[in-house]
Amino acid sequence: MLIAKTIKQAKKAISEAKLKNRTIGFVPTMGALHYGHLSLVRAARKSCDFVAVSIFVNPAQFGPKEDFRKYPRAFIRDERLLQKEKVDLIFYPSVAEMYPKDFSTYVEEIYLSKPLCGLIRPGHFRGVCTVVAKLFNIIEPDTAYFGQKDYQQACIIKRMVKDLNFPVTVKVVSTVREKDGLAMSSRNAYLNCQERKDALVLFESIELAKKLVRGGGKNPKKIIAKMRKLILSKKSAKIDYIEIVDAQSLQKVDKMQKNVLIAIAVYIGKTRLIDNVIVHLKGS
Ligand code: AMP
Repeated sequence: MLIAKTIKQAKKAISEAKLKNRTIGFVPTMGALHYGHLSLVRAARKSCDFVAVSIFVNPAQFGPKEDFRKYPRAFIRDERLLQKEKVDLIFYPSVAEMYPKDFSTYVEEIYLSKPLCGLIRPGHFRGVCTVVAKLFNIIEPDTAYFGQKDYQQACIIKRMVKDLNFPVTVKVVSTVREKDGLAMSSRNAYLNCQERKDALVLFESIELAKKLVRGGGKNPKKIIAKMRKLILSKKSAKIDYIEIVDAQSLQKVDKMQKNVLIAIAVYIGKTRLIDNVIVHLKGS
């Protein structure tokens, strides 16, 4: 396994792999890896000859009051985990390598980025698109893997790939959860004991919504009200948003339809967590 800290080193490793006609699978991450990340790596390992993982806490996707500085960093542990998964290349650049002083070009998707997290975290998806576009140009993957946990992000990346003609196939991998249902996230490490218990309410509320929709619930407002009540039963919870949207356009729906995304963002204490579920309704 090679660790490339510069773009030049990464590009060299990639061109050698390409010369050998190896297909490149790529998993972009911010590190502090957990089994959610590893499920993407395993999907890449299964289908591609050469697997590259990037570890880069991307300042461009954090707002000024967000947790860029305190975001967990655990490179030694990450390296060990990726070695075990038989990853070929870790791309681990510095901020200065990715954003030199004179950096002034950004990539912005302007439709799918507006609702949900985009409304609350202005500039977030611009930062994501910019770094992913750069990473795609550096790694030149055949296939890139993203998690459904960040469903909006995956939709936006797919749109960027289509709109800007990146020769990359985007695969979305299901959310990996802890035994009790909490979606794995690097930010779960911020939770204290009581908060970890309370955080389960994210999963419980989307499960409740799924049950209500499957049981014939037609009115998103009523479903959201029930989710709100359940979430607010936890002292440490503060709701950022609860939305029921069309799973393709991410626009709000006023009655239930074929494929809806139920998406939530909730603060548990000071930690902002997200989760979502897609409900497919047959014959509606
Ligand atoms: P991050 O390091 O948080 O930027 O995440 C890197 C990639 O891992 C993104 O595509 C995420 O959607 C994905 N990911 C994060 N958590 C999970 C999870 N619990 N299950 C599956 N994929 C995940």
